[in-house]
Amino acid sequence: MTVTTPPADPVAPVPSAEEVARLLTALQSEGLRVEVPLAARAGGAGPADAGMLYIEGVQVTVPTTASYVEASPYALRGEDDGSWAVYEGSERLASAALAPRPKYYDLTTADGIPYWQIALLHLDSVASTVLQTCAYWGNDDQCTFCGIGVTLANGRTIAKKTPAMLAEVALAARDLDGAVDATLTTGSTATPDRGAMYVGRCGQAVKEAAGLPVQVQFEPPADLDVIDRVADMGIDSVGIHVETFDPQVLARVAPGKARWGIEAYFSAWERAVAAFGPGQVSTYVILGMGEDEKTTIDGCKRAIDMGVYPFIVPLRPVPGSLMQDLLPPPREAVEAVYRQVVPYLAKKGMSSAGVTAGCARCQACSGMGAFERSASDGGLRDGRTALPLFVGA
Ligand code: SF4
Repeated sequence: MTVTTPPADPVAPVPSAEEVARLLTALQSEGLRVEVPLAARAGGAGPADAGMLYIEGVQVTVPTTASYVEASPYALRGEDDGSWAVYEGSERLASAALAPRPKYYDLTTADGIPYWQIALLHLDSVASTVLQTCAYWGNDDQCTFCGIGVTLANGRTIAKKTPAMLAEVALAARDLDGAVDATLTTGSTATPDRGAMYVGRCGQAVKEAAGLPVQVQFEPPADLDVIDRVADMGIDSVGIHVETFDPQVLARVAPGKARWGIEAYFSAWERAVAAFGPGQVSTYVILGMGEDEKTTIDGCKRAIDMGVYPFIVPLRPVPGSLMQDLLPPPREAVEAVYRQVVPYLAKKGMSSAGVTAGCARCQACSGMGAFERSASDGGLRDGRTALPLFVGA
């Protein structure tokens, strides 16, 4: 493949925070055509099919390998001075820097397991799915957006990571590659705690060994006392992910999770906020699965009122998942939701900057954090006025 190298613009304009936020949102909807190898994942829970890079210094994951990316107007190109930039046609939109291959990926455990099969580096967060199996996978309950079984089937990970393995890898990720936190998720188990205690023990081991802030993610446990026990392990933040506030969509895309009902998530969040504090509890909210916008925004605001950070992301169809043939939602639809939720977060005194660990701290899979910064800039940079954010009640 030919690598196009346009001449570097000696006075390339620096985009405003508003322009960066809008570009990140566009890239996450349309993808980024790359003409160079880029660190990417092609399965698993979380940012699968994710090219990891920095745009104007902001860490971001964007689709790079899915077939729809070929139609994206955005391309990553090298410049004469060896740097990188995002272009739309011949217009240079923003500077870019590629995430380097983590040094710890070259290490193996004493048993010969490569460290990268135990935990991956998602930009500055060491991340792992501690149980790569799920009670819902492979049956009628499987979440249609999920790829947890894909990475296991293709041999890129191991089924169960032990606390000792994770502690060893997290220490290396911190010391060799500057990881600043750990994000640990799990497939759901058939036990009443739904895997929360195991992922909690893994997080505890990471924290004790590496001293990193840790987020653990799990489904609402049947016994909410489990949440207090996870907090007692010293875990900093938790993710309890409703995925969508639209009950009809949840029933269609995540029948196993829908069985507990959306109110079970609010009950779990209430307990979790009491244990971990406001802003340290988050939920994924995936856009682009057919959900009603008002229901989504009302749900986000109700969560925020409780002290829960709704981490809003566009659907990123995972190759091998039941949604692999879908497209991400249009940029305009995603931006419309960010513009209604971000000011409400700010009004309630919450922001991604206040989240200690995990996906809502990292923000690379969403444009939300960039819109937060744009709003806190007063929407002004380089003398340009940003588009208004809509402050709802
Ligand atoms: S509960 Fe759903 S999203 Fe979570 S691991 Fe299982 S199938 Fe995937």
